[in-house]
Amino acid sequence: MLELAEPRLLRKAAFIGGSWSGGLTEIDVHNPADAELIASVPDVGASGAMAAIDAAEDALPRWTLLTARERARLLRRWYDLITRHKEDLARLLTIEQGKPLSESRAEVDYAAAYIEWFSEEARRIDGDVLPPHVEGKRLFVFKKSVGIVAAITPWNFPLAMITRKVGPALAAGCTMVLKPSELTPLSALALAWLGEEAGLPAGVFNVVTGIAGPIGEVLTRDSRVRKFTFTGSTDVGKSLAAECMKTVKRVSLELGGNAPFIVFDDASLEAAVDGAIASKFRNAGQTCVCPNRLLIQAGIYDQFAATLADRVSRLRLGSGLERDTEIGPLIDDRAVAKAERHIADAIARGGRLLTGGSRPNRAGSFFLPTVIADVPKDALLCREETFAPVAGLVRFGTEAEAISLANATSSGLASYLFTSDASRIWRLSDVLESGMVGVNTGSISTEIAPFGGIKESGFGREGSRYGIGEYLNLKFICLDVRAETPVDACGPA
Ligand code: ADP
Repeated sequence: MLELAEPRLLRKAAFIGGSWSGGLTEIDVHNPADAELIASVPDVGASGAMAAIDAAEDALPRWTLLTARERARLLRRWYDLITRHKEDLARLLTIEQGKPLSESRAEVDYAAAYIEWFSEEARRIDGDVLPPHVEGKRLFVFKKSVGIVAAITPWNFPLAMITRKVGPALAAGCTMVLKPSELTPLSALALAWLGEEAGLPAGVFNVVTGIAGPIGEVLTRDSRVRKFTFTGSTDVGKSLAAECMKTVKRVSLELGGNAPFIVFDDASLEAAVDGAIASKFRNAGQTCVCPNRLLIQAGIYDQFAATLADRVSRLRLGSGLERDTEIGPLIDDRAVAKAERHIADAIARGGRLLTGGSRPNRAGSFFLPTVIADVPKDALLCREETFAPVAGLVRFGTEAEAISLANATSSGLASYLFTSDASRIWRLSDVLESGMVGVNTGSISTEIAPFGGIKESGFGREGSRYGIGEYLNLKFICLDVRAETPVDACGPA
């Protein structure tokens, strides 16, 4: 049951131009733990998306002209309200997404931290004074808001994937239209309501709910939108980015990963198993930085496999609201079917099932946490993002072999490395083809550090002092300070 201390956090309308708006039809939001209907939200369609861009356009001039301090204060107030309503936000998140309540609480903290961080960064958007290239000139670089931002976010972190975009965008003086996942719109709408309560002016942050295709078309095609930021699957991201190029928008993409998790013989077994549990089984394996291929050196392989399988077999599965649950349901039955397909493929290719491997005997889209040993490198488990609590183990011999296996993917989001050899840490950190490397840890995400990938995992960075640059254009001013200014003072074009 969804019982909230502040019932107004449950919004059943889209948020456009400071008004809570309906649509022509509605979409239903279900609890993945029992398939029950939680609420319906409007499908605002193309016309709603257009109205939201209109609202963002109206709000832009005043928002951009506020002082950084004024914007920072509003963001800080938003942060304070998110934190104050942490328990309600966590319950809402668990009910629509499925993750254990403890993980939802951690996500609320993590999501709020981006708003706090960028409320602080808002006041550090400075520029440059450059040494002139010729006598009599003065050269300046200003940082200007990119303007209207459109954002599309996924269901696996229904709050944090939004705040790491809206925090820097608003701090930089942009206005935003967000389309959250149709599977988890309620967290996004609660966030918008708290923004309204914090005093964000109408039209600065708009949330449009509904069927993705028509809304996405408007957001990617409208020439007033100058920046498009997307987190989601690689195929969808590629096609939306291609559409954005027709109006030459700035684009950031945070797409799928296929993270290697490499354990060398000299690693601490305990740290490696803890790291695998933390990174592979968090959110039931539905994170883009999840290890997808566990590459284990021959000397530690059997011990690692046995210890991991034992720990995984004892993970407590249940509804996220039940006390002590460690593995909640997957987001839907399609996700369960993908896990089953990957496991069947691995076993057909010689993989050995050590634990799990099937749906448990209960309603909802649950899947038993699973470990499979001796997975060949050409198995689906190694080639595609599984996005489920399924760990496939691959045996390797030498360091060179580990590097070659790790980099044999078109993705490049995160990598993990477990070893006690300091030289090897530096060698591998350098050559692993990913935007982020966890060394002797499975937990790497923080608002302080740049999050993002290389290769087909995308481009652009979220969080950290770099994150705000995604929402700023550089503007160069060349000033001639000589008393008598010739007409061609700024030189050849
Ligand atoms: P996931 O596998 O995480 O669901 P998706 O890429 O399908 O990844 O979804 C991420 C986000 O992209 C969601 O908000 C979803 O609604 C949106 N999305 C999916 N397809 C489209 C589309 N054709 N146009 C616009 N948005 C889309």
